[in-house]
Amino acid sequence: MAGLYIHVPFCKSKCTYCDFCSYPSEIQKAELYFACLYKELKHRAQQLKGKVIKTIYFGGGTPSFVEPKYIYGALKQIYTCFNVSKEAEITLEVNPGTIDESKLKVYKNAGINRFSIGLQSANSETLRIVNRIHNVEDFKNAVTLLKGFNLSIDVMIGLPGETQEDVINSLELATSFSSVKHISLYALKAEEGTPMFTKYLNGELLSDDEVASIYEASCKYLSQKGFNRYEVSNFCKEGFHSRHNLNYWKRGEYLGVGVGASSFLDGKRFTNTESIDEYTKCLLSNKFAEVFIEEVNLEDAKGEYAMLALRTSFGINFNEYKKEFESDFLVDFSEPIKKNRAYLDISESTIKIKDEYLYVQNSILVDFINF
Ligand code: SF4
Repeated sequence: MAGLYIHVPFCKSKCTYCDFCSYPSEIQKAELYFACLYKELKHRAQQLKGKVIKTIYFGGGTPSFVEPKYIYGALKQIYTCFNVSKEAEITLEVNPGTIDESKLKVYKNAGINRFSIGLQSANSETLRIVNRIHNVEDFKNAVTLLKGFNLSIDVMIGLPGETQEDVINSLELATSFSSVKHISLYALKAEEGTPMFTKYLNGELLSDDEVASIYEASCKYLSQKGFNRYEVSNFCKEGFHSRHNLNYWKRGEYLGVGVGASSFLDGKRFTNTESIDEYTKCLLSNKFAEVFIEEVNLEDAKGEYAMLALRTSFGINFNEYKKEFESDFLVDFSEPIKKNRAYLDISESTIKIKDEYLYVQNSILVDFINF
């Protein structure tokens, strides 16, 4: 099995915390960009020959901002060039305020069956402050329009001025719709170079301890609503995990297409340029636009495997590890296990980070990746 990621780098405007590969003023390049993206899909298909695509994910940027014909065209190209499972999970990221009935009709025809909607906050004033283009009414309209689909909602902790009550209100709104089966709950990261970083430097953002306490209250709230945590930032109703993300955490193979997209195939990791101009120039000259390629050796592969799987509530299954690497997890990782024993749950068949330490997992994971 393999996953397929398509990057759509266009947004209506830039949110003040965003350092993703997204360009608010380059929508006029969409026609050329997608022509090149279809070309990349066609030429990359060789690399996935014999493999079945089980998940497809359109991320960004704002995939719902571009004309829907481009999404339709990408899927048409994917069905033509790849072996796509009939049960594939096909997700499109949506920003409220950029979707309507006519777009939805095209998405449906194209085969999209899951939508990931960026709410971030149920406080319209907060949304305005961080330059989101939507308000709470837009969110409600989007969820109502997408009723009946499998929906995932993004909510953030630590947005300027927000209290614990605000975050719980956002979760209350998100979980009040029966189509919502999945919640992604992210703590704000003030990335260097963004306007949010200035706020961070001025001491205007919540402290790590304050964010951790809101996170804990949010986990409790979501659990009461029937959303179980299966990764530090991801919660779902029984059986509604993001299959696309699970593939990443299981160290499954995936192909990323478009600017800034990363791939992991046949033991190699590679990433495309973040520049739209560079990307289109390469594809027009019949070249891929990779700026980074790395062959992963066996030791690194084991470290990655442990680090990714320990992020999830499933942890590592010893048999699966043995099947993958023909060696014993408890032997390979005896040192980090000894050092972090107090934070780990170890059974006969699995090892995982104890629930109460999942939020502060990074210091534990470092020991496993550098075992
Ligand atoms: S909508 Fe998403 S990708 Fe676009 S600017 Fe905002 S955070 Fe960044």
